Amino acid sequence: MLHNHGESHNTTRIGWLRAAVLGANDGTISVASLVVGVAASGAQQRSILLTGVAGLVAGAMSMAAGEYVSVQSQADTESADIEREKYELQVQPESELAELTSIYVSKGLDQPLARLVAEKLMSGDALLAHTRDELGITETLRARPIQAALASAVSFVVGAIVPIISVLVAPATRVTEVASVTALLTLAILGATAAYAGGAPVAKGALRVAFWGALAMGLTAGVGKLFGTVV
Ligand SMILES: [Zn+2]
Repeated sequence: MLHNHGESHNTTRIGWLRAAVLGANDGTISVASLVVGVAASGAQQRSILLTGVAGLVAGAMSMAAGEYVSVQSQADTESADIEREKYELQVQPESELAELTSIYVSKGLDQPLARLVAEKLMSGDALLAHTRDELGITETLRARPIQAALASAVSFVVGAIVPIISVLVAPATRVTEVASVTALLTLAILGATAAYAGGAPVAKGALRVAFWGALAMGLTAGVGKLFGTVV
């Protein structure tokens, strides 16, 4: 159980917030661009909506799959490191004790005290002490592939819902405009939130994300219009 140490908790919370905001960003930009592109081709509102929903499902699944694979490989690496540590503790406990002692010396303890702490901790759960202080793996920060995949998919869906709702409520002749404006507003809010979470200038963060969103939607609208006239 971690002591209530404000700094470490904030850092973890900021990490999650930034990941969620970036996931939502992807959802809004990719589905809004799809919707605007298809709308610009002159498609029916029903087809535009279908495209949006298909984009949401496809995007959420690909985000979840990508996140799962990358975090699972991190989890595999962590487990392999812990297994090797377990083995080293069995075959060479003396050099492991020396290693842990030197870690505490590098954290600022003098040699005798560092040795004492290392001996004390290794007489308890030696693997836990090495996993935490040598490998830097703690229960709180362990790689959790399923959780990460779910969080990534949910944040994508939250971002992608906005352009879909805008297609639902927009007048049939104004889908492109309504979808673009709501998407740009959403991206500006997300950009500002991510900047705020990271301690960066909020306005700059908002503008940056809105700019890329506008560029993506502009390009797909162009392709959609071209497609609509050619086909
Ligand atoms: Zn070790």
